[in-house]
Amino acid sequence: MPNKRSLSALDALTAAQTVEYYFDRAAEVIDLPDADRIILKRPIRELSVELPIKLDNGQWRVYHGYRVQHDNTRGPCKGGLRFHPSVSEDEVRALASLMTWKTALVDLPFGGAKGGIACEPQRLSDDEKQRLTRAFVRAIDDIIGPQRDIPAPDMNTNAQTMAWIMDEYSSRHGYSPAVVTGKPIGLMGVEGREDATGRGVQILVEAACPHFDLDIKNATVVIQGFGNVGSNAARLLHQCGAKIIAVGDATGAIENEDGLNIPTLLEHYKTHRSLKKFAGAGELDSRELLKIPCDILIPAALGGVIDADIAEVLQAKMVVEAANSPVTAGGDKVLRGRKIPILPDILVNAGGVIVSYFEWTQNLTAFRWKVDAVHHELRETLIHAYDEVLRASDEHKTDLRTAAYAVAIDRVATAKRMRWLS
Ligand code: NAD
Repeated sequence: MPNKRSLSALDALTAAQTVEYYFDRAAEVIDLPDADRIILKRPIRELSVELPIKLDNGQWRVYHGYRVQHDNTRGPCKGGLRFHPSVSEDEVRALASLMTWKTALVDLPFGGAKGGIACEPQRLSDDEKQRLTRAFVRAIDDIIGPQRDIPAPDMNTNAQTMAWIMDEYSSRHGYSPAVVTGKPIGLMGVEGREDATGRGVQILVEAACPHFDLDIKNATVVIQGFGNVGSNAARLLHQCGAKIIAVGDATGAIENEDGLNIPTLLEHYKTHRSLKKFAGAGELDSRELLKIPCDILIPAALGGVIDADIAEVLQAKMVVEAANSPVTAGGDKVLRGRKIPILPDILVNAGGVIVSYFEWTQNLTAFRWKVDAVHHELRETLIHAYDEVLRASDEHKTDLRTAAYAVAIDRVATAKRMRWLS
């Protein structure tokens, strides 16, 4: 029984095993037949590729890349592309299955996939990144496409990376903007995609606050990660009146118990690419960031940062998983024991894929979405999914993560049975 495992055993689960553990927990709750469990846990395809790149100094180096397609029952596979030294087959497999449950939970006509290249993007020039991205697209060309698998940005990739993907794929298949989302606005990208994940975080925090006796206007917030997701969540929560009292990233952490001036911090970050030496805050040991007393703790950087030990000591009233898998299975168990609610990743960071869906429809129909419509539909979609999660949580008397997985797994399993019986 998964719930009987010790905390250290739970913390030792790999990323993919952790998602399976959550899957099993939800499968029990909805009494999912064994056949569905066997089929839905495993990815449908895993591709591992070698990418030889000539560096700017004339030397050659071979990078490893992965594309895992977890499920395509409800539509083409969909999922981001990550550049990071810690990228591994196991991590990409976990992230691909999270995408299946995320797209199903918010009821998009997509399955789940993920890609990654193990590299140190900060050490690569733009030209080297471009060569690496194009080599990856050539290597996975057979398995992607507007009706097969549609990549998007993730850690250390951005609209520029997506433009290279679109160009490389189009050079073989003809003009194909719908092969990738998160593109620049001038290249059939959709307005509102850039900050969609952070906006989704803000929408859900705002919706959840009243359920957990918090008032967003006075809530104190700590955010780990000041990249695309973390910085946009900070900006939008600050606009709602929340007090962002500390933020951290790979360069360090800063705090101000009266609340950071986020617009000024964003200007500082744009100039210095670092949180350090910001006049309106004191510096903080990064390891202490997650333990600061606050109402809302938002991990928006790496996976696995809240393990059982951190979960025992953190002093937040609610944990909002803006990153993918920031809480280990051990951390999840401790937080449930402490009755600290966790808003789960497959709900919280779904804003990006929701607006990616709008971009995909824009590309298929060649009709441009207006930004007000993007914001409106994003909110509607997320709030509907959140209500479904709350209902499932009440019905099954279970935590929000298990409820979210239950809704998603039931949706995919039902669709799979319809396709197989027809
Ligand atoms: P990003 O590359 O824009 O930013 C990552 C941030 O994490 C940076 O601020 C970086 O400094 C910080 N970071 C890296 N290592 C760190 C460390 N050791 N300690 C503290 N901070 C560290 O990436 P992003 O797009 O903002 O993605 C962040 C998370 O959100 C990831 O887990 C990603 O999978 C998830 N996510 C992103 C999107 C999206 O649309 N971008 C969508 C869904 C989920």
